[in-house]
Amino acid sequence: MDFRPDSHPDWDVAVIGAGIGGLVTATQLAAKGARVLVLERYLIPGGSGGYFERSGYRFDVGASMIFGFGQQGTTNLLTRALAAVNQSLETIPDPVQVHYHLPGGLNVRIHREYEQFLAELSDRFPHERSGIRRFYDQCWGVFNCLNAIELLSLEELGYVARVFWEHPLACLGLARWLPVNVGQVARRHIRDPDLLRFIDMECYCWSVMPADRTPMINAGMVFSDRHYGGVNYPKGGVGQIATALATGLEKAGGTIRYRSRVTQVLTQSGQACGLQLASGETIQARRIVSNATRWDTFDRLFRQPLPASEIRWRQRYQPSPSFISLHLGIRAEALPPATDCHHILLEAWPQMEAPEATLFVSIPTLLDPDLAPPGRHIIHAFTPSWMADWQDLNSREYQAKKQAVANAMVRRLEELIPGLEDAIDFREVGTPRTHRRFLGRLDGTYGPIPLGTPRGLLGMPFNRTAVPGLYCVGDSTFPGQGLNAVAFSGFACAHRIAADLGF
Ligand SMILES: Cc1cc2nc3c(=O)[nH]c(=O)nc-3n(C[C@H](O)[C@H](O)[C@H](O)COP(=O)(O)OP(=O)(O)OC[C@H]3O[C@@H](n4cnc5c(N)ncnc54)[C@H](O)[C@@H]3O)c2cc1C
Repeated sequence: MDFRPDSHPDWDVAVIGAGIGGLVTATQLAAKGARVLVLERYLIPGGSGGYFERSGYRFDVGASMIFGFGQQGTTNLLTRALAAVNQSLETIPDPVQVHYHLPGGLNVRIHREYEQFLAELSDRFPHERSGIRRFYDQCWGVFNCLNAIELLSLEELGYVARVFWEHPLACLGLARWLPVNVGQVARRHIRDPDLLRFIDMECYCWSVMPADRTPMINAGMVFSDRHYGGVNYPKGGVGQIATALATGLEKAGGTIRYRSRVTQVLTQSGQACGLQLASGETIQARRIVSNATRWDTFDRLFRQPLPASEIRWRQRYQPSPSFISLHLGIRAEALPPATDCHHILLEAWPQMEAPEATLFVSIPTLLDPDLAPPGRHIIHAFTPSWMADWQDLNSREYQAKKQAVANAMVRRLEELIPGLEDAIDFREVGTPRTHRRFLGRLDGTYGPIPLGTPRGLLGMPFNRTAVPGLYCVGDSTFPGQGLNAVAFSGFACAHRIAADLGF
């Protein structure tokens, strides 16, 4: 729709959505003095990094294994994003990133301490001891390059030139790894098929792709930062991150409005310059940022022919499945002593990518007991599921399927927590339909996954779009899913816009 904006719009930047990607963009720009407005359709900020409360429990909507809260280097982007608007959070270090329970009785914990992790994995695969070290050391090589430079917009050539001048070796290192996937590197060092499957799972648990389709840059980040900055849980729950960013945004002069669903991006002469809200109100801004997924942005909000660059991107990436999420409150005595916070369960390797196969489990009350009433724990278990399996069900069929799937998940969880069923005090089940409804994401997707073998990270789009004035931020932009990754995308988006607007 062509729209006639004022010559002096009220806002420099209007951001659609208060997910972590949108909030980091907004806070970075507000801290530089831009007039920023964030419009969020839901009641609170955070999106997939949000929370909800029921019966005295505070549940994380999605994320609860949090990277980016380290105190050193440059990859601690959550710490940095908060600090930019004078906020900080108390965090609780997690001694084990994840405890794997894999086929053939393969049981491995990823200890925070690197050597302890290598020793445990090498004990399971003694004939691969040196290959294991070479592979994970190679990941450190990638991480050290990333962690040497300030992580901003690769679309800003002045920055790219400056960083190259200051850190030529780190930049050349990153350029070398950009088109590479993990599988190629793993096979250079490792032969054992079960160990290669383990590396597949190491990737799948955050990229929802096996090693051959997971970019080496992302793996370098995850496989090393867990031993460097570590995995740290924010006291009070993951929702505290978005809450603190929203507070910092307002203190820095920005504005955030909830229950404000954007229905359309308005353009004049092809340039994005405003937004239409479901209430009928229109907002004008010099730049528009969408924290909705690229599919939702271009199919629902842009409402004009799809730009050629988006068509090309869709030929390379598709939406991943969503999840079935089981949120439980349980009596604390049911939990075996020394249980770890995060677990991944899989019974058969060929099933790894199948719906309802890999089971992700978090018990955040082991780190922060205040999330549950005294004597209780929270369990969040989730497993991939496609919208196609849920969308055509009537209400009775939907409820029945939800309960049947949740019962099956509880039975699988009994491997970790014998007697779990009898210890349940609260239970709520979310499906792809729930994720779509509450997060506003196409089919409840977790984010983009490559259709074939990607060229590492080269195919992921940056923040600018083919529409002048319209930017995207979040998990469907470089470098992809995860709270620290979308924070990276937020830093880059704000940096590019600040350069465009002269802040
Ligand atoms: C079950 C699950 C478990 C996960 N576990 C982890 C984990 O352990 N660690 C980790 O790092 N990551 C994890 N993730 C991934 C991580 O949560 C996401 O990658 C990240 O939160 C995405 O952030 P985002 O800013 O891109 O988008 P979102 O979180 O989707 O935020 C987008 C925001 O935009 C709003 N919005 C959308 N459309 C409109 C509109 N039209 N008008 C107004 N507002 C709109 C939405 O309401 C939402 O608040 C998990 C995700 C899920 C679903």
